[in-house]
Amino acid sequence: MSKIAMNTALVEMDGDEMTRILWAMIKDELLTPYIELNTEYYDLGLKKRNETDDKITVEAAERTKELGVAVKCATITPNASRVKEYDLKEMWKSPNGTIRSILDGTVFRTPILVKGIEPCVRNWEKPITLARHAYGDVYKNVEIKVPGPGKGYLVFEDENGNETRELIQEFKGPGIMQGVHNLDKSIESFAHACFTYALDSKKDLWFATKDTISKKYDHNFKDIFNDIYEKDYSDRFKDAGITYFYTLIDDAVARIMKSKGGIIWACKNYDGDVMSDMVSSAFGSLAMMTSVLVSPAGIYEYEAAHGTVQRHYYKHLEGEETSTNSVATIFAWTGALRKRGELDGNKELCDFADRLEKATIGTIESGRMTKDLALITSLKDVKVLNSGDFIKEIRTTLENQ
Ligand code: NAP
Ligand code: MG
Repeated sequence: MSKIAMNTALVEMDGDEMTRILWAMIKDELLTPYIELNTEYYDLGLKKRNETDDKITVEAAERTKELGVAVKCATITPNASRVKEYDLKEMWKSPNGTIRSILDGTVFRTPILVKGIEPCVRNWEKPITLARHAYGDVYKNVEIKVPGPGKGYLVFEDENGNETRELIQEFKGPGIMQGVHNLDKSIESFAHACFTYALDSKKDLWFATKDTISKKYDHNFKDIFNDIYEKDYSDRFKDAGITYFYTLIDDAVARIMKSKGGIIWACKNYDGDVMSDMVSSAFGSLAMMTSVLVSPAGIYEYEAAHGTVQRHYYKHLEGEETSTNSVATIFAWTGALRKRGELDGNKELCDFADRLEKATIGTIESGRMTKDLALITSLKDVKVLNSGDFIKEIRTTLENQ
């Protein structure tokens, strides 16, 4: 059988620890035997980031802008203990943060559903994709602990020194105050990314804020979404047979519980932080969550939602057997390959991505899985496999399709 050709390259960003081990296994067993893999390789492992003063991360992101598609392995975000462990020159920034700010993207997270791993919410039949705005609000706040009586103000001074001033509270005793902000430009990018992704995946889009209470701040989000929708997307949504739906955040929370899923739920930064953890744990496992960064310019970067699985890596280094779930990392690859195929009109590549996903899900549904899933499955007679054997089983399923 001849291998599938790839006319255009995609950016491959390698990573750290256990996911780096899985990365190589996935390529060896599931990709290179079938595809003439055409990637531009960037090693984002912490050692290389340190050697290059983190320039490698910037280069990889810049190249992604040109090629349009990237796939990324999980990477370590250094903290104090990592600085010691890897003898780092500096506490380098989160690669995902660096890439996100270069691509100006929004992250969409979607659970992978398999029979035998049932969501806690019984009526969720289809995955719920969560889109979280990744700029501002409480994550860029300024806070004051008010010691005692006095007046708290919100003040804006324009470039000419003119002031707009609102009294927040006349304090009679101690209390607290907080200032938050957002930028129209960032909200606009977020809106475009959400509408584009909805069209791309042919799913309804929900967006919710608390505009009835926050009549200027949250209302601004609602208005920007609405204006962009009416101007650029309403016709295309009609043609695609999908809808855009705005509601209040508490209403969205109530409705999502009663829904069958199968939608994209766009959230402000804080709501997205909280709701994505709720949605992912309700669907079963972090190891079954995919993540894609979509820029308003239509650039896609695929990865798993989980980290480098450090604890398993240390076991691996000790020579112990691990049973680390590679599903989300495999789906990062299939997502990137399918997108490459779509952009290049390479149907064979898209079909391969579909088949590999089917083989992965089929392997689990036939009772062969890693330990994390075996602990939560409703299937009987489960065979727990180690990291490498699970990937080999997927290859067997793929070969026998
Ligand atoms: P993590 O790697 O997601 O792992 C946390 C725990 O979740 C694991 O110890 C494991 O539980 C379970 N788990 C996660 N993925 C799994 C998988 N594929 N298969 C089986 N079990 C899995 O998070 P972390 O330990 O907090 O972070 C480790 C490193 O990853 C950190 O340096 C962090 O900076 C980085 N990180 C990177 C990204 C990214 O690049 N996107 C995201 C998050 C974190 P058990 O130990 O109980 O088996
Ligand atoms: Mg969180």
